[in-house]
Amino acid sequence: MKILYVTSEANPFAASGGLGDVMGALPCAVAEQGNQCEVIMPLYDTMKQQYRERLELVLDMTFNHSWRHTGASVFKIVEKGVTYYFVENHYYFDRGRLYGEFDDAERFAFFSRSVVEYMLHSGNIPDILHANDWQTALSIVYLKTEYSHIEALRSIKTVYTIHNIEYQGKFGSECLGDVFGLDNMYRGVVDFDGCINLMKGAMVSSDFITTVSPNYANELQHDFFAFGLSSIVKSSAHKMRGVINGIDYGYFSPEKGGDIYASYNNRTYKSGKAKNKAALQAEVGLPVLADVPLVVMITRFASQKGIDLVLHILDEILCENVQVIVLGTGEKEYEDAFRAAEWRHPDNFRALIKFDRVISKKMYAGADIFLMPSKSEPCGLAQMIACSYGTIPVVRSVGGLYDSIRTYGEEGANGFRFDNYNAHELLFTVKDALALYADKKKWNALTASAKKSNFTWENSAKEYISIYNNLV
Ligand code: ADP
Repeated sequence: MKILYVTSEANPFAASGGLGDVMGALPCAVAEQGNQCEVIMPLYDTMKQQYRERLELVLDMTFNHSWRHTGASVFKIVEKGVTYYFVENHYYFDRGRLYGEFDDAERFAFFSRSVVEYMLHSGNIPDILHANDWQTALSIVYLKTEYSHIEALRSIKTVYTIHNIEYQGKFGSECLGDVFGLDNMYRGVVDFDGCINLMKGAMVSSDFITTVSPNYANELQHDFFAFGLSSIVKSSAHKMRGVINGIDYGYFSPEKGGDIYASYNNRTYKSGKAKNKAALQAEVGLPVLADVPLVVMITRFASQKGIDLVLHILDEILCENVQVIVLGTGEKEYEDAFRAAEWRHPDNFRALIKFDRVISKKMYAGADIFLMPSKSEPCGLAQMIACSYGTIPVVRSVGGLYDSIRTYGEEGANGFRFDNYNAHELLFTVKDALALYADKKKWNALTASAKKSNFTWENSAKEYISIYNNLV
């Protein structure tokens, strides 16, 4: 079976978060089980030189998008058994960053159309087209509307994955023809609640919908989680399933993953963790103290991640015998609040306001406790990554955090969970974790059990393959 994944980011070529991690790993896992996997994504100017040098030209194409006569070049790189195609258009993708541009709607509409045009120009037709999030939603909409009369494309089955329903791609109704190049007769496909909603368009057009954890799939039936789309989720329930993400153990492994101060395995866990902790404390300028529990958080600074809860009780946590390091970027208000906290607590708090994969790995490896008190969390990868480094996650029971973390006391416990979106429930759970940290025997048993958690992509890939098989 041939699967074409359509995405706006994929590790290691371009990534800003979880979607990049998934698209860097899922296609490889599906390919390993005997399928032909290809990924298509934009060629951003931020791509590192080491990958740029490997680009091979596949084709140049021109096509019409709304009133524009435009075009793109498509390049490829083969990596770990997967062919990655890159759509080059300097005007749309040389912006120094992936998202956040005034014309994102037009940029990703162009990309989505390029995907369909690429299939037509190259004759490279997959059995399954698997698109992800709002940026690529239009690839499915185009296939099922404007291009539905083209025989060569008719046999393609489509899967659409919602990685985060909060970002739906909502734009003004006037964008339909000019920006998206859709005929007015297709307005009903993308129209929702008085505007154009690209995620809704892909949900109603696709043959199957997945989201990134079973619990999140259930939660999306409720207004609190669905950001206005619960009616579409309910009416799509017959073709929707949650498949939990895995993590890339080749990249996030204390033994093989690299980038950390000292590698360690199950046997050398204690000494390895101690070396990493001391080096991390030294690197960020905190006192090098082996017995003080080190709590970290690595996240986008967005309210979805429960940052408000953390800020509400941060001063109280920092009164304990503890060190805390936060790594992240995002909303300025949160960045400033963490900077101010560092100013108040220079002895035991650091705010690293940046996106830095290397320091993130050093933090997973050096920390004792990982905070993830999300308000909503489709799947969450960070809590799984923390487990792989033997770092204990403290999470809220929501979305994929509920599916992946068993709380202390339960069979197979690998962390701590609390239920309500309440800052003091977070504080008390952190205190429970700190209390257990003081009991070395119990703590070591918990870290050993966390390290055993199995979040490989292999099982998730099997579930996706069964979905693809059912469709074709
Ligand atoms: P989301 O996709 O909602 O941002 P996930 O937990 O699914 O959250 O994935 C986040 C991924 O991004 C993890 O691999 C995490 O380590 C990484 N990450 C988040 N913020 C940073 C940062 N500032 N620096 C480095 N890596 C980060």
